[in-house]
Amino acid sequence: MSTVDAAVVGSGPNGLAAAVTLARAGLRVAVYEAADTIGGGLRGAALFDSEVVHDICAAVHPLAVASPFFREFDLAGRGVRMLRPDVSYAHPLDGDRVALAHHDLDATCAGLGPDGPRWRRLMEPLLTHSEAMVDLLLSDLRSPRGLRAAPAVLSRVLLHGTRLGSRTFRGEAAPALLAGAAAHVVGPLPSLPGAGVGLLLAQLAHGPGWPLPRGGSPRIAEAMADDIRAHGGELHTGRKITDLRELAGARAVLLDIAPTALPGLAGGALPPGYTRWLSRYRYGPAAGKADFLVSGPIPWSAPETGRAGTVHLGGTAAEVFRQETANALGREGGSPFVLVVDPAVTDPGREVAGRRPVWAYAHLPHGSACDPLPVIRAAIERYAPGFTDSIVAQRGLSGRDYAAYNPNYVGGDIATGAIDLRQTVFRPVPRWDPYRTPLPGVYLCSAATPPGPGVHGMCGLLAARSALRREFGWPLPALGPVGAGTPAA
Ligand SMILES: Cc1cc2nc3c(=O)[nH]c(=O)nc-3n(C[C@H](O)[C@H](O)[C@H](O)COP(=O)(O)OP(=O)(O)OC[C@H]3O[C@@H](n4cnc5c(N)ncnc54)[C@H](O)[C@@H]3O)c2cc1C
Repeated sequence: MSTVDAAVVGSGPNGLAAAVTLARAGLRVAVYEAADTIGGGLRGAALFDSEVVHDICAAVHPLAVASPFFREFDLAGRGVRMLRPDVSYAHPLDGDRVALAHHDLDATCAGLGPDGPRWRRLMEPLLTHSEAMVDLLLSDLRSPRGLRAAPAVLSRVLLHGTRLGSRTFRGEAAPALLAGAAAHVVGPLPSLPGAGVGLLLAQLAHGPGWPLPRGGSPRIAEAMADDIRAHGGELHTGRKITDLRELAGARAVLLDIAPTALPGLAGGALPPGYTRWLSRYRYGPAAGKADFLVSGPIPWSAPETGRAGTVHLGGTAAEVFRQETANALGREGGSPFVLVVDPAVTDPGREVAGRRPVWAYAHLPHGSACDPLPVIRAAIERYAPGFTDSIVAQRGLSGRDYAAYNPNYVGGDIATGAIDLRQTVFRPVPRWDPYRTPLPGVYLCSAATPPGPGVHGMCGLLAARSALRREFGWPLPALGPVGAGTPAA
């Protein structure tokens, strides 16, 4: 029998955001995490050298500075230094060319030649409404805030969610910048969800930027855990919850889990209709990750690539669209889309005694068991010949390995659910309150609920808001470092 008011299962950024919110509201909260350390997608580890920390999952955090939850939680105010590279992301192209999304919009436009004015026309209205756009797209999509951004966002999403979008540009660089950002949905492209995510990330590149926390992603989880403890909450690691009856006594239970794991935890208590909806929930393609320990910066053929916090490898927009669509259809092969981060570019302290971590992952078919190291090395070598010679140690995690590492990554799907049009809105099931389940006091709060994946804390915040209202009749508390300010959503 649990002695707390609220139990949170899973300590990913959403579980932690839910626990922060509930603890700040004055509830006695306990977080139960199956792994030995907290953080879910925010975990890091010294893999090869005791001094060099590798981010196991998330590394770059535009959403952890922009989302309503984190704007109010205020990582900087808690001593987490978010370091912003001058070049948010780069997209190398063959022939030693590279498209650069500088933090500075003018510098970006200057580098895009005749497409510079077009990029400005695309971005400027979004930047004018940057915060409103974030509020709109990181909402529960039922009672969205930020509606003043809607006309500029919707018109652009409708255009860039189709092949016509790329045709509004003349060269290859600008469409590649947008396609690389859209590829973060890990699904067929072009698509409306891809355009929404791509435009959001592209405008954030020129706004708050694409920062990395000094010292790595675990700093974010630690700041959240500190706040939970400071407000009386407990965090238990190495505690996998297998049956909701283990949490009997808690008035609210928030589950940072894959929705298809709920029937197992509920032990037959769910109504058949809801269970049927859950069985229709679809998972998307997998990620295959490479962690490298290297002896120096990546030797990019286009040296300016080395100034970027994040690098997208996938060729032209047409190549990215083709490869992402084939991948979503389960076709192995080709040249998978690869994301690369050399954290020491932005945070020099990540390099220790001439050794630095390199983080990279490839989009692979759902359930892929293939060793991602060869495809990722080949993708980097295409634009940085000689990279392999700098590798001191390496480790590959296939999609299947990821599924074993974190039960939320079903089939290696790091988004905990395909991001198609239906599952953007009806995530995980078609309900007005997508967080609430038919079980009394039980809520889902993982990336499988709106607004979906990423380190933004909004699934946790919105699920906690629902639980506070319904179970306790309370509003959202303030979440800032000194307890002041207005509630986030
Ligand atoms: C390789 C990779 C790169 C990524 N890069 C980025 C990035 O750069 N920026 C970004 O914003 N996002 C990135 N993401 C996505 C981001 O990490 C996720 O969207 C985010 O972590 C989802 O948060 P969550 O709280 O919903 O779940 P998770 O972070 O997956 O956490 C869920 C937690 O619940 C625990 N759990 C599950 N079931 C149980 C149970 N029954 N009992 C107890 N504990 C349980 C799990 O062990 C896990 O710790 C990346 C993900 C991966 C894998």
